[in-house]
Amino acid sequence: MNESCNADLPLFDAYPGLRALPYRALGTLPTPVTHLATFGAELGMPGLYLKRDDQSGALYAGNKVRKLEFLLGHALDSDAKSVLTFGAAGSNHALATAIYAEQCGLRCHSMLVPQHNAHSVRRNLLRGHAARSTLHACAGRPGVVVRVAQIFKDELLQHGRFPSVFPPGGSSPLGTIGFVNAAFELKQQIDAGLLPAPDVIYVASGTMGTCVGLLLGLRAAGLATAVHAVAVTKAPYTSAEKPPKLFAAANALLHETDPNFPVFDYPAERFTLRQGFMGRDYALYTEAGCAAVAKIRAAEGVALEGTYTGKALAALMADAPDLAGKTVLFWNSYNGVDVSDVIADVDYRRLPPAFHRYFEDDVQPLDRD
Ligand SMILES: *Cc1c(COP(=O)(O)O)cnc(C)c1O
Repeated sequence: MNESCNADLPLFDAYPGLRALPYRALGTLPTPVTHLATFGAELGMPGLYLKRDDQSGALYAGNKVRKLEFLLGHALDSDAKSVLTFGAAGSNHALATAIYAEQCGLRCHSMLVPQHNAHSVRRNLLRGHAARSTLHACAGRPGVVVRVAQIFKDELLQHGRFPSVFPPGGSSPLGTIGFVNAAFELKQQIDAGLLPAPDVIYVASGTMGTCVGLLLGLRAAGLATAVHAVAVTKAPYTSAEKPPKLFAAANALLHETDPNFPVFDYPAERFTLRQGFMGRDYALYTEAGCAAVAKIRAAEGVALEGTYTGKALAALMADAPDLAGKTVLFWNSYNGVDVSDVIADVDYRRLPPAFHRYFEDDVQPLDRD
């Protein structure tokens, strides 16, 4: 892979010792920043900007690419032949892992648990199959444990190695460093005059690597920007206890790798976990989230979705009266690459039977056009 791209990461420029971290350039970075003049005017927020992680990769984009640059770097450095990860049936993380693992020449096992049906679930399952990921349907956590043990045994017997395991959402301390770099990337864009330093960033929180990585990176880059993390999952994936722990673990990894990277106190006053926008369940769309998706599409042509980004934008819109004079950055964490060509010829009946119901049952009511 392209090791020379190491030099391009703003985090590595600031702390050259961090080039010792496992890393493979996979994405298209930096991602652009857009001023949302029309949508901002509608909300009475002239200082509203969009961070375009929907353009973070050529094969597949969204926030998971930044984490996978480190996670797949580690898998390749440790000479793994396969990776194994976890998610719900329509997981963007499992799909991003499948696509970039294939690009790296690694086999991929995705352990997938049930979720509410949506068009995006169908798309992601078909795209994962097209990326030659082995999709395992697991009924729940006990089922996952049994299957993982079986895969470990099979991989060892057939290929002589255990898979490299990525946690749900890729939010290990190592994966989180992708968003520490994202904050340094943002700092460069501020210094280049592309936007003023934001007062606050709004971002969806699923497994917290994105929001916590940003919090640590903003602190290290010398930005006073606050982070509003909008919960779209339940504990233990998103919880109030997790950010200080993940912050400290990612910080420790950075400090151990390059002692010039400081150890920071957890900046509690800069982090707000927003409950109240998930609705009843993960991946169950809300009226407010769908209204937010429709509004930003009409105003700016920006394509969000109902599981993560729509709910995060609904929180921002609810706060609009308090944000009038502020510079606000909405972090678009959703993939913007059209996968329809790649999946056009994939028949869902080639997937394991447990996944067929997503194609045979109707999608959830708020996802019907
Ligand atoms: C995974 C995901 C998130 C959440 O990121 P975390 O780091 O898991 O909190 C947000 N938006 C989209 C579109 C995602 O796929």
